[in-house]
Order: sequence, then C-alpha cells, then structure tokens
Amino acid sequence: MCRLHIASMIERSMDSKKYTLIGADGQPYESDTPGALGGHKRLKIYGRLDCPSAARYIEKGQYIKYRVFFKDEETAIAAGYRPCSICMKKEYKLWKEKMQNDGED
Ligand SMILES: [Zn+2]
Repeated sequence: MCRLHIASMIERSMDSKKYTLIGADGQPYESDTPGALGGHKRLKIYGRLDCPSAARYIEKGQYIKYRVFFKDEETAIAAGYRPCSICMKKEYKLWKEKMQNDGED
C-alpha cells in the first residue's frame, strides 16, 4: 500500500462524523451513530427528536445550548432524565406512576 493511499484513508476516517451523546453516567461521549432520542440538559427531560415541544423551543433559540442526545431510552433514564410529557405520553405516565409508588414505599 502506497503512502498516498494510507494518507487518504486517515483523512477519510477523520472525516467520519462523530456524534456527542450522553451516557448512562450523565457524561458526554463520542459515538459513530446519531442518538435516537433528544433531551434537555437543564430540565433533565428526554423525548423524541421530532418532539413538537422541543421544536418550539429550538425555534425560539432557547433550546440549542441545552440540547443533548441519547442512544436509547434506557441510557436516558440511567442518566437521570425523565420522559417528555408531550411526545412520550405513555412513558411519562409510567414514569409518574413509578415515582409515586417509589414515594409511598
Ligand atoms: Zn417531547
């Protein structure tokens, strides 16, 4: 393999897009694949990427700096986030019930 070929391979691997996701420990890490869920870092809420509530915030430019992404729901929950009440109604209801049950124990 010639030097030029190796150089172009390195360039290509550096060019491959990395996504910053939030891990189960709440810390950001680099991933090769984009997140499946979006979240709000300050409100500690996660939801669908096309959440109508999140889109409204993004339009106003208030959300971008708090926007985080998760690989999946499990990771979001582990990181201490709760489901969005707008786009994840079912999950939110379950979460709420769980929280109430936890309080009663
Ligand atoms: Zn939502």
